[in-house]
Amino acid sequence: MTNERDHLLAVAPGQSGQGREPARSGGAQEMTSPGGGCHGGEAELRRAAELAGKEDTLTGYAEDYPVGPHDQPQTMCPAFGSLRVGLRMRRTATVLVGSGCCVYGLTFTSHFYGARRTVGYVPFDSESLVSGRLFEDIREAVDELADPARYDAIVVTNLCVPTASGVPLRLLPKTVNGVRIIGIDVPGFGVPTHAEAKDILAGAMLGYARAEAEQGPVQAPRHGVSDKPTVTLLGELFPGDPVGIGHMLDPLGLAVGPVVPTREWRELYMALDCAVAAAIHPHYTRSVREFETAGRPVIGSAPVGHDGTASWLDAIGEACGVARSRVDAAKARLLPPIRAALADAPIKGRITLSGYEGSELLVARLLVESGADLRYVGTACPRTKWSDADRDWLTARGVHIQYRASLEDDAAAMREYRPDLAIVTPAGNPKAKRMPIPGLYFTNLISARPLMGVAGAGSLSQVINSAIASRSRYETMNAFFAGEGRDPLLSHGKTAGHAVAAGAGRC
Ligand code: SF4
Repeated sequence: MTNERDHLLAVAPGQSGQGREPARSGGAQEMTSPGGGCHGGEAELRRAAELAGKEDTLTGYAEDYPVGPHDQPQTMCPAFGSLRVGLRMRRTATVLVGSGCCVYGLTFTSHFYGARRTVGYVPFDSESLVSGRLFEDIREAVDELADPARYDAIVVTNLCVPTASGVPLRLLPKTVNGVRIIGIDVPGFGVPTHAEAKDILAGAMLGYARAEAEQGPVQAPRHGVSDKPTVTLLGELFPGDPVGIGHMLDPLGLAVGPVVPTREWRELYMALDCAVAAAIHPHYTRSVREFETAGRPVIGSAPVGHDGTASWLDAIGEACGVARSRVDAAKARLLPPIRAALADAPIKGRITLSGYEGSELLVARLLVESGADLRYVGTACPRTKWSDADRDWLTARGVHIQYRASLEDDAAAMREYRPDLAIVTPAGNPKAKRMPIPGLYFTNLISARPLMGVAGAGSLSQVINSAIASRSRYETMNAFFAGEGRDPLLSHGKTAGHAVAAGAGRC
């Protein structure tokens, strides 16, 4: 890791930048909670942000990412979502503006997940925050970073305190030396989940790219333009899934397009130039709006399992004007192997499922079609029309769906249904262990597998059945440790790792 400049620190695990944390006095102090954490003081931060000119931003977030029944499910710092999107893009620089502890946590987590990229940091103190000098520091940092030989875009992200202070990233130039500048506010008090923060950045990039395309010719994708109409996929997918979807689209005379969030700026143009956008993950509200503004139809759900694949191919065919007979022929070829794969890899046991990635209902469909006795799905994401088909299909089979699920909802479901396996968030894992119920972490162990088409049909059974079979080990451990280690952090559903991950505790 190298220092980009005097006031633009590149921080990595072990280089916390703590020495540059804001002094705990003056304006910054007044806007942070007494505990310095993410949960306390939220109303104050929101009020401060509104007074500082961020009312429109927060109102837009409230409309696009509605909360309720819980204000904010217990997920990690939302900025991790947009940070991860930026770090995965080629020729894209990311710069965080926030408290040192938040930047440390976010950077640590990014590197834990293998970012291997520099995270830029513009630190501040109460004087630079209050005087407006911080904005000038950001401007200088952007000017210095904006090398068109290295970057297509620079993403600058305001975390909680700069957002609450009204640091006006919208006043940054749109380009510097031909490098695009994208400024976004991702405060924990205005963005419910990290999943939705991904949409904030993806939507901002799509909007920028759409405006460029409207002005004239734009760069072609690295691997050229498809000669078939394409289907853009919305949502981070297992790398093999777009390939599998491509095989399913081929008999319809279609090709798979880019996955949004994209891995490179130039893919954004091709993503927008699709025949249809498939909202595989249903919470990409701003990205969907960009496709609709570009005149592209959008469909929901995904080709998961037998029934999901059948419905999805129908929807794609209809949106793209593919002849009914051609769609039916494709289904006749594609669906029997999926049904066979599901039958060959049955899942036996009662399951509850909780996650915060946006793919929870899709995994749930796959579990039910695999034979699992699924009782409950909790997702941190909101209900949108793009998952209505999945919701209807699941509720018709007796599965309770909880949108904006809290840790308490998930724990209550485990208590009520006493599952053989709980698929859980990190905070839910210790709850499951104490019951004792085998737990599998949704993000790392379930959503990081193929889910679509025939590859997805048999992908979950081995890991799930072996976890169910391990139940006696959990019971032995629970008996051995009975009454020990009632860590107050754990009893509140937090782990030390996630306290670090969230920087200041929004986890
Ligand atoms: S770690 Fe907490 S305080 Fe820091 S930016 Fe994230 S939500 Fe805000």
